[in-house]
Amino acid sequence: MTAKDLPAMSIAELQSLLRRREVSPREVIDALRARIQDVDGEIDAYLSHDFEAAAKEAEKANVDLPLGGVPIAIKDIISVAGEPCTCASKILHGYRAPYDATVIRKLRAAGAIPFGKTNMDEFAMGSSTENSAMKLTRNPWDLSRVPGGSSGGSAAAVAADEAFGGLGTDTGGSIRQPAALSGIVGLKPTYGRVSRFGVVAFASSLDQVGPLTKTVRDSALIMNAIAGHDLQETTSLNEPVPDYSAGLGRDLRGVRLGLAKEYMIEGADPQVKAAIDAAVKHLNSLGADIVDVSLPHTDYATAVYYILATAEASANLARFDGVRYGHRAENPKDLLDHYGRTRGEGFGPEVKRRIILGTYVLSSGYYDAYYLRAQKVRELIRQDFAKAFEKVDALVSPTSPMPAFKFGERTTEPLHMYLADIFTSPANLAGICGISVPCGFADADGRRLPIGLQLLGKALDEARILQIAHAYEKSTDWHKARPPIAAAIHKA
Ligand code: GLN
Repeated sequence: MTAKDLPAMSIAELQSLLRRREVSPREVIDALRARIQDVDGEIDAYLSHDFEAAAKEAEKANVDLPLGGVPIAIKDIISVAGEPCTCASKILHGYRAPYDATVIRKLRAAGAIPFGKTNMDEFAMGSSTENSAMKLTRNPWDLSRVPGGSSGGSAAAVAADEAFGGLGTDTGGSIRQPAALSGIVGLKPTYGRVSRFGVVAFASSLDQVGPLTKTVRDSALIMNAIAGHDLQETTSLNEPVPDYSAGLGRDLRGVRLGLAKEYMIEGADPQVKAAIDAAVKHLNSLGADIVDVSLPHTDYATAVYYILATAEASANLARFDGVRYGHRAENPKDLLDHYGRTRGEGFGPEVKRRIILGTYVLSSGYYDAYYLRAQKVRELIRQDFAKAFEKVDALVSPTSPMPAFKFGERTTEPLHMYLADIFTSPANLAGICGISVPCGFADADGRRLPIGLQLLGKALDEARILQIAHAYEKSTDWHKARPPIAAAIHKA
């Protein structure tokens, strides 16, 4: 093994080298630095990083801690003390986080080194990272395509071996969908399982923080570090945290998996459909029983999601006014001019669209027709899942209806982008957990584009979906495939 091989490793592999003192945390940071310098010019996954600070932390890292000496990339919506936190928005230009988010504090307590802030759709609004006000992030499997979003920077960094693992946030699919499109593993925990203290709020009844990793085991390792109750976060669940690694390795005999007929939609890409069909057969051959279930209100999920998410965003984003931090318009005439120009200059078009939509659905004349009705349908969606989970242990579906798309392909018509969330947003509405694991490739002009299999579990059943995902991963080779950019550089 040479230093060049280090960045391709999983967290678990890296850990065992660190613990055996075969490599030092400092060497790991140096290898990562070289790797980022080699490839990030092409991928553009990172918005900022501080190699000097990371090197200093590496010097004092305790490798015997659960994530001792392991660098983790952080979506730029999560506060890391002293580092920029821009949410990929001009309105947070120049802002540095004054404190660590709880997830960062917990990562540090587990010995990890939070390293680098990754690109995203502005304020996590989008499915391609094209809404970043800073730059485009390219998919390591095909540089002319998006890495998914909104956590596209973390996903691309992990896929291109520029990060051992990353944190993202998922409000309607933003961890699972970029994981699927970039060929890695992404877990959205149950609502309330992971603290959002210090994470910039998009839609507070839906947001969750979770890991993006090369393997299911790595996902469990990060969950072990970040899950748990937080007195600083009122929606945080006060429930015991299991050891998420403990159940990995169990087989699937007796596990009941639900297949919802509503998820087998016409519009899905035929190659995605074929890969999911094959994955379901494979799970069955591993001993899982496949059970047909129905989630009758699925059709309404996208509409409900976009009403509730925009309503909550319009309230949450009211705090960005340039008065105390971030971008501020020059020489305002009066207060109204200050607000109008600061927010007009600071927010990008998608964020403005959502603030306007959200304000509209909350306005007195339309509140009952849109917001209140959406809340009622949200409850029906939640009940659909509750009924399905009476019959099954987990649900299987595609993560995304299509593989990675080209830049610009879905930007002219916002609805086309919104439809990317069709399989992911219902889990956020219901507050349950979900994971995406690589399950095949689509062929596009001779290039391989990853496809993700989604497993949904009931609230607080992360250990179960991790176990199922692990059994699937262990018996397939999809996660071992590396994008061309990784292979090319490793050979060089
Ligand atoms: N694509 C969805 C949206 O644009 C979900 C984003 C997310 O999960 N943060 O809102």
